[in-house]
Amino acid sequence: MPTPKDAAAVILLRANTDPTNPEVYWVKRSDKLAFLGGFHAFPGGQLDETDSEVPVQNSPNPETSVMISGAARELFEELGILAARGGEQLTKGQRVSLLDDLESGRMTWPNLLTHYELYLDANDFTFVGRWVTPPFSPKRFDTWFFLVTCPAKQEPNVIPGELASGEWVEAGDGFNRWVNDEIMAVPPTLHALKTLSTGVTSDLVERFLATPQAQGQSVRRIEFRPNYIFFPLRTPTRPPATHTNCYLVYNSKEILIFDPGSPYEDEQQALAEMVDELRAEGRSVRELILTHLHPDHVGGVNALTTHLEGHVPVAAHAQTAEVLSEIRVDRLIEDDELISLAGDPSIELRALHTPGHARGHLCFLDEQRGILLTGDNIVGLGSVLIDPPEGNMIDYLKSLERMRSLPDLKLLLGGHGPPMTVPYRKIDEYITHRLEREEKILEAVRSGVTSPEEIVKVVYTDVSPKAHALAERAVIAHLEKLDAEGKLTIN
Ligand SMILES: [Zn+2]
Repeated sequence: MPTPKDAAAVILLRANTDPTNPEVYWVKRSDKLAFLGGFHAFPGGQLDETDSEVPVQNSPNPETSVMISGAARELFEELGILAARGGEQLTKGQRVSLLDDLESGRMTWPNLLTHYELYLDANDFTFVGRWVTPPFSPKRFDTWFFLVTCPAKQEPNVIPGELASGEWVEAGDGFNRWVNDEIMAVPPTLHALKTLSTGVTSDLVERFLATPQAQGQSVRRIEFRPNYIFFPLRTPTRPPATHTNCYLVYNSKEILIFDPGSPYEDEQQALAEMVDELRAEGRSVRELILTHLHPDHVGGVNALTTHLEGHVPVAAHAQTAEVLSEIRVDRLIEDDELISLAGDPSIELRALHTPGHARGHLCFLDEQRGILLTGDNIVGLGSVLIDPPEGNMIDYLKSLERMRSLPDLKLLLGGHGPPMTVPYRKIDEYITHRLEREEKILEAVRSGVTSPEEIVKVVYTDVSPKAHALAERAVIAHLEKLDAEGKLTIN
């Protein structure tokens, strides 16, 4: 698990904004970014080595000074806003050339400030929380958030690259855009929008800090989209993944729990607490649903049913149920079956039998909202293993094609890694990747290399030798497919 890196972010308030309905500046991250691509967020980023060399007036301690310096630098680099005292003397053109000096490396951040007799004042940066990226993420940050009022006569301007766009938004409106499924955001962003939506009041900072997550405590309840709780659980899974995503889909009355996969007691306990929190608000658990048979997806089923005193049925595809010996499956899910939750809002999930990674693999589609739970067929981190005889390459490609043909997909939620915000591009990548491998395998065979072990050495040159044993399984799956298609017969 990566250790969190120090980072700072700025929640920029518009100058002279209406305190009862404040406007903040948010940015949309490029959907090409591996980390939170396509998400709405606040400007910010990792600290730089030179951040600590900047003196900050009125700062309570050196640690805060470094964070303020980093926040101010990121704000300048990402939006061109210079939140430094003395900066009001500079013209827009001067600020642009200063930014160029910084970006090109002609001047460091501390040099630039001293050279132009600018200084940072802690009074301009109100600390409103410190959030730590949960351990499931391949990139983790310990981010300090500061509320900053945009200096007069400066307008933020997104510098294209990591960021796709930016705009002023009324905090309440921004929050509603998440409620209405229009944007994706991480918990600290949503928390900030929600907190600001009730106005810039005298207890604003207190309200910002009122949640334990704002004080560095790990966030467990993550809702990138309303009603879909993303709940990664630590599992003994295949690297680089360290967690398996459990999903809790809920509305006013019912909860569905997908893949409670952790065999570890502390993780099972955390999930039980999450479930209890939802139940305490008047909901009941309708079913535990398994996408497929692998241990990292089913490892916590019995612990959770025990916690729920056995009243909750476990549901899976027949080809999953028949091989699970230690878990009792109470109900079989068939292809195309519709699972509807009682209560509000109405949520309907269509089960799709999508074999390939496993024979009984199921995906679940929320047609109304374009959300697809992809299980291990498509994942946000690492690769999908096709290991015969449970795995089957012909089936897998058919399943990918079927997923590709679904209309209006907006979001893929996989069994591992972060959500995927550009569904069709992702599915296409998967299909292309497999077909390219297959083409190379066929070439190898035609040139006389026939044993899977040898084929791996020729074809999987981009994969570390440690992974060759697994790659061999994939080669066998490809050879089975090629053979079934008659492509291995030499004329
Ligand atoms: Zn799996």
